[in-house]
Order: sequence, then C-alpha cells, then structure tokens
Amino acid sequence: MTTTPSLDCLSVVKELWDYLDGELDTARWEAVRQHLSACTGCASHVQFCRTFVDRVATVPMDELAVAVLRERVLSAMHAG
Ligand SMILES: [Zn+2]
Repeated sequence: MTTTPSLDCLSVVKELWDYLDGELDTARWEAVRQHLSACTGCASHVQFCRTFVDRVATVPMDELAVAVLRERVLSAMHAG
C-alpha cells in the first residue's frame, strides 16, 4: 500500500503544464513530482510535454508556427 501515489494519473496530467511551468504551489508541485518519479505510466507523457515546453521556450513563436504548419501540410499530403 505504501507504493500508491497520492495523486492519480488524471490529476497529474491535468497539472502537468503548470508543474513544468513552475506555476504550482510547493506542496502541489511536490505531490506531482513524487507521482511522476513513481509512476511509469506518466513517464512518456512527461517526456512529450517537457520536449514541447523546451521547444516553446527556445524557438521563436513564428518559427514554431511554421513548423506546425509544415507538419500539418505534410500529414495532409500523406493522407491524400
Ligand atoms: Zn501516473
């Protein structure tokens, strides 16, 4: 019973952006952090969000928009 995380995965995923942004208060942040360190189910989700946040932080906004647009065009081409 000691391994049961104090938060369920859904709550953690909902708070993940705030967690990565540092917007949570310390107690909440710590609860999320503990869940993430114990839960393998959330690991891939965290990886994705972290990569995304890093990109948003380092890439200028219009470059990102261009990348998103290009991906959208490419997937449309593949779909057609
Ligand atoms: Zn989880």
